[in-house]
Amino acid sequence: MIPQSFEYHVPRTLEEASRLAAQFGADGKFLAGGHSLIPMMKLRLAAPKHLIDLTCLRDLAYIREEGEHVRIGALTTHFRIESSALLKEKCPLLPETAREIGDVQVRNRGTIGGNLAHSDPAADWPAAVLALEAELRAVSPRGERGMAAKDFFVDLMTTALASDEVLVEIKVPQLGHGTGAAYAKLHHPASGYAMVGVAAVIALRDNGAVERAAVGITGVGPKAYRAFAVETALHGKPATQAHLNAAAAHAAEGVDVNADLYASAEYRSHLARVYTRRALEAAVKRARAAATA
Ligand SMILES: Cc1cc2nc3c(=O)[nH]c(=O)nc-3n(C[C@H](O)[C@H](O)[C@H](O)COP(=O)(O)OP(=O)(O)OC[C@H]3O[C@@H](n4cnc5c(N)ncnc54)[C@H](O)[C@@H]3O)c2cc1C
Repeated sequence: MIPQSFEYHVPRTLEEASRLAAQFGADGKFLAGGHSLIPMMKLRLAAPKHLIDLTCLRDLAYIREEGEHVRIGALTTHFRIESSALLKEKCPLLPETAREIGDVQVRNRGTIGGNLAHSDPAADWPAAVLALEAELRAVSPRGERGMAAKDFFVDLMTTALASDEVLVEIKVPQLGHGTGAAYAKLHHPASGYAMVGVAAVIALRDNGAVERAAVGITGVGPKAYRAFAVETALHGKPATQAHLNAAAAHAAEGVDVNADLYASAEYRSHLARVYTRRALEAAVKRARAAATA
């Protein structure tokens, strides 16, 4: 289908972009990689009267290390993250997650900022930024602010961003000594999106007990979420298979689990438990390797 007609705007600065968005309110939409918005416009599920193209804001495409953090500009493509030598060394969960997104074409155009702002319930990045306890930074005519990833995803395709806020940066704390992370995903056979995707970060104490666990899950409910019940079940426990199994059993606890043509709520809950266990096992293995490195 052909999208409804719209006016196309190309701001030259971030300030101009957020000013235009404030001016158009609900009638305006930012355009980044276009790999979620344009299909929605073609299906007329979205019909913005004004499209504000962010792709000229090249300053928003970067990956840099700063102190204890890695900072990623919102317009950085999935492919650039997948192939970043810095991230492979400092935060390998991010390239590992990027590799799982769509196909090469999608990864070449799609951006991490667009993916997060879209908040598709089956998108991959939300799980990773939740588990990494990242901060998401946004700019509007009122100034700049940071949001914890756990507060960013509000509901189905709804985030804490105001309509005139541009997501500008994802600020990721680097993992400490004895910490491992992993992403486990079951791909939807047609779209490649996550039927279930689980990102886990595990920090181990010297005695092998779990000092800290952070788990982000996508594909299961109306929005990606932190699996706090899994994390609590692991805290202070030895990272044995029995404890990992018991903790993973809480993966879908308290979640209004999606049911569709591909998976009933019961089957998806089962998948959430299985993929949580797999992500925890892989993260623990890497944490042990990191502790002895
Ligand atoms: C065939 C196909 C397969 C795919 N498979 C996967 C998959 O397996 N996993 C996955 O996670 N995704 C998948 N995607 C989606 C892909 O990752 C998109 O690129 C991504 O979801 C949106 O990013 P974008 O840069 O294309 O954003 P756009 O489509 O341009 O924008 C998406 C939304 O975010 C808003 N937005 C964009 N940038 C900003 C910003 N900086 N600040 C505020 N708002 C902003 C837009 O206004 C719009 O509402 C797939 C897409 C396709 C077409």
